[in-house]
Amino acid sequence: MSGVAAEFGELYGAGPEGVWAAPGRVNLIGEYTDFNEGFVLPLALPHTAVAAVSRRDDGVLRLHSRDVPDGVVRLDVAALTPGGVPGWAAYPAGVVWALREAGHRVTGADVHLASTVPTGAGLSSSAALEVVTALALNDLFGLGLSRPELAVLAQRAENAFVGVPCGVMDQMASACATEGHALHLDTRDLSYRQVPFDLAAVGLRLLVVDTRVSHALGDGAYAERRAGCEAGARALGVRALREVSAAHLSDALGRLSDETVRRYVRHVVTDNERVARTLALLDAGDVRGVGAVLTEGHASLRDDLRVSCAELDLAVEAANEAGALGARMTGGGFGGSAVVLVEDARADAVAKAVTHAFETAAFAPPRVFPAVPAPGARRLS
Ligand code: ADP
Ligand code: MG
Repeated sequence: MSGVAAEFGELYGAGPEGVWAAPGRVNLIGEYTDFNEGFVLPLALPHTAVAAVSRRDDGVLRLHSRDVPDGVVRLDVAALTPGGVPGWAAYPAGVVWALREAGHRVTGADVHLASTVPTGAGLSSSAALEVVTALALNDLFGLGLSRPELAVLAQRAENAFVGVPCGVMDQMASACATEGHALHLDTRDLSYRQVPFDLAAVGLRLLVVDTRVSHALGDGAYAERRAGCEAGARALGVRALREVSAAHLSDALGRLSDETVRRYVRHVVTDNERVARTLALLDAGDVRGVGAVLTEGHASLRDDLRVSCAELDLAVEAANEAGALGARMTGGGFGGSAVVLVEDARADAVAKAVTHAFETAAFAPPRVFPAVPAPGARRLS
C-alpha cells in the first residue's frame, strides 16, 4: 500500500506525515450480542483500510478515497454536524467530529484512504475506515487515547454522526485484535482477552463465504431486533439481556408474553452461552468441537432472530453437506458473509461445493477466501 503515500502527494501537493492501517473483521461467534452488553469473538482480517494523513491547523478537513469517484471532499471541522455530511465521507468526518465533541484538539487534516475490505459484506469496511482515521489523528495530534477509547469514539461517529445504530464489536475488533488471535470481548466493560487461534497448526481452516448480496430490509430489521431485545430486557427487569444466564432462560421465557421478543431473548442468551462454550473448547484444544457450535448458532440466527436469508442458509447447508465441521452466517445478516470451519484437506472441496450450490440455485457466484487472524490497527510509516 506504499502507493497510498504517493497518491496523497499527487492529491495534496506534498507527502503525508504518516500512513496507518486498520483491518476489517469477521466474527466467529456471538451475533447481535454486542448491543445487549454480551460477548463476541471476532478476528481481524488481512484486508485493511489504509490512510495517508497530514495535520492541518486551519480548520479544514479534506477527505479522499481511492475507491469512490467523488474527488476530494472539503469540510470545515467547526461546522461538522450529525447527518450533515452525505455519503462515505461521513465515516471519517464523524471521527473528527466525535474527537472534537470529546474535547480533543483536532484542527484539520488531509486524508487519503484506500481499502481492500469488501464493502457491505458484513466484514466491517465502515469500522476499518473509522478506526484508521481515529488512530492516525490520535498519533498526529498526540491525543494519547487508548485503543478501546478510540474504538468507542469510532462507534460514536457511526451511531451519532453517520446515523447507524451499530454495537461496538466492529470497532473494538479493528482497533484491538492481534495477529494469530481471536478477540474475546466483553462488550459491557470492553475488557478483552487475546485467544490463540492458530487453525493451520491443527490442520483446520476458517473460510469466509461472501454471498455478495445485501438485502435491502437489513437496516430497518437491525433496529427492530435491537428494539425487541431492549423490550425483552425491560420486561425482565434487567439492564441488558447479558444479565440473563442460560440456566435462567426457561424461567425468563416463561415471563415474556410477546412471542417475537421471546425468540429474540432466546437467541441472545443462547448465543452468549455459545461464545462461552467456544472459548472453553478453544482453551481445551478441542478446536474441531467449535464446528457444531457454529451450526447451532446459525440455526438460532435463522429461526429465532430471523436475520438470515436464502443465500446464507444455502452456504451453511452446502458447506456442512460437503463435510465442513460447522458453519454460520456472520455479521448483521440479510446477506453478507458466512464462516465455515473445515479440515484443511477438505477446504477446497467445500468451497467448490458451496460455489456449485449457488450456481444450481441461480445465485450470483460467492467469493470464498480463508480467514487467517491478522493484526489490528497500526502505523505503517
Ligand atoms: P460494512 O461495514 O459491513 O462493510 P457498512 O454499510 O457498514 O458495511 O459500510 C459500508 C460503507 O462504508 C460504504 O457504503 C461506504 O460509505 C463506506 N466505505 C467503506 N469502504 C470505503 C472506501 N474504501 N472508500 C470510501 N468509503 C468506504
Ligand atoms: Mg459496517
